[in-house]
Amino acid sequence: MSAKLDRLKEIDAQLTKFSTISELLYWDMRTIMPDGGFDAHSDAMDYIETESFRLSTSDELYKLLQDLSEPGEWDQLDDMWKFNVKTMREEQERRRRIPEEVFRRAVAISTASERAWEEAKEASDFSIFAPHLEKQIEITKEIKSYTHPDMEIYDSLLDDYEKGMDSATVDRIFSELRDGLIPLVHEILAAKQPDDSKFNRKYDIEAEKKVQKLLLTYIGFDWSRGTTAESEHPFTLDLVPTDVRVTNHFREDNAIDPMFSAIHEGGHAIFEQNVDPRYGATPAGGCDYLGIHESQSRFLENILGRNINFWKPIYADVQKLQPEFADVSLEEFAAEINHVRASMIRTAADEVTYCLHVILRYEVEKAIFREGVPVSELPALWNRKMEEYLGIVPANDAEGILQDMHWSDGSFGYFPTYLLGSIYDGMFLEAMEADLGPIDPILAEGRIGEIRAWLTDKIHRHGNTRRPKEVLAAVCGREATAEPLLRYFRKKYSEYYHL
Ligand code: ZN
Repeated sequence: MSAKLDRLKEIDAQLTKFSTISELLYWDMRTIMPDGGFDAHSDAMDYIETESFRLSTSDELYKLLQDLSEPGEWDQLDDMWKFNVKTMREEQERRRRIPEEVFRRAVAISTASERAWEEAKEASDFSIFAPHLEKQIEITKEIKSYTHPDMEIYDSLLDDYEKGMDSATVDRIFSELRDGLIPLVHEILAAKQPDDSKFNRKYDIEAEKKVQKLLLTYIGFDWSRGTTAESEHPFTLDLVPTDVRVTNHFREDNAIDPMFSAIHEGGHAIFEQNVDPRYGATPAGGCDYLGIHESQSRFLENILGRNINFWKPIYADVQKLQPEFADVSLEEFAAEINHVRASMIRTAADEVTYCLHVILRYEVEKAIFREGVPVSELPALWNRKMEEYLGIVPANDAEGILQDMHWSDGSFGYFPTYLLGSIYDGMFLEAMEADLGPIDPILAEGRIGEIRAWLTDKIHRHGNTRRPKEVLAAVCGREATAEPLLRYFRKKYSEYYHL
């Protein structure tokens, strides 16, 4: 074994320790930290992030990665370490180009901007957030001028979250979907709506927690390598592959949202728990491609979870745990979880209109980075698009442009990954049914483990080693297309809404 590889493994292990500490701080901040803990947590996190940045951009690591890429050393590496060296090199070369002063300034801008966004949302006043958003856009452009000098800026932002996914492809599939979806949504909204009066009641939160446990266990969450907590917004945290955590937000006025959050985050967690254990916490392990990641959470949440057959084996147990559903038939429950509404808030949207919420954000991001539309004009642009796509106009900024936190921490190019996930899901469903036959009877008979095994074999176990376009080629044998998702929507909602 090469001494150089041994040293690389040591540095990689050190980077893993930094990220474990930083993620634990994040977990604590989002779950049980009292307000008074904010400064201490932020200081500790800044410290760890800076140390991690220094090590990951160090001359020693740079030299090591160069040496290991030389033919004599390279040929001795196994496939996993070839992948790791190549990935670390690419990542390092980009990071090294960012001056430390710029990196630190970006962290400070994000911290101030996240706080301003919270305040602005609370006051429903975009003008509080606007100057911070401008700074966030400027620093993003500045960083990109170092890291991706030869790449068009919005393409490089997409690439940050979904490696290799270019805007030409995204443009093509999003407009395919938008053009097919708008008439379908209008047709659904004009049709007779299901009666949702039974769901307007108060729910027991302790019961919701029990239902979450049932659902996570049912879909295959491994409790020996995972745990749960509560947070304002549900999220998944993969601390290390043997410790993957999910959170949920339980509510008295709605027991259905927490169920679907549990399935969604559970889908992310199962992915991480099922990556080939040989990859461990190295760059090959886990999955950093957010579109692919989202495809797995959404496959569980929507393709499986919003299928009536998913519930057949467990609905009686859900009713026992949550007696508020005792008088709700399975058919009524299925109609409600597939109830399409024109609504303002993305995170509360049904699976159909959700797509339009994301397309709107994608178009606003392109307006910012491609067309240079000034920040002051963004709320009006947002509202115009809401009216065009869903026929509704936000009454204020809080239910309009201020609803998501993503832009406050500079996550531009992130939103499209949500929709890429759903588009891939349409494709994965067709590939899966070609292999396993229709999923309806598989779900109805409680054989969900067969579906999970297929997903693990085709997607989960490969972790980061297959990039998104490679996953599509390997699993579906073709390029990204929105057609299968549109077919799935048309078939399903024509039945529910008698179109
Ligand atoms: Zn997700």
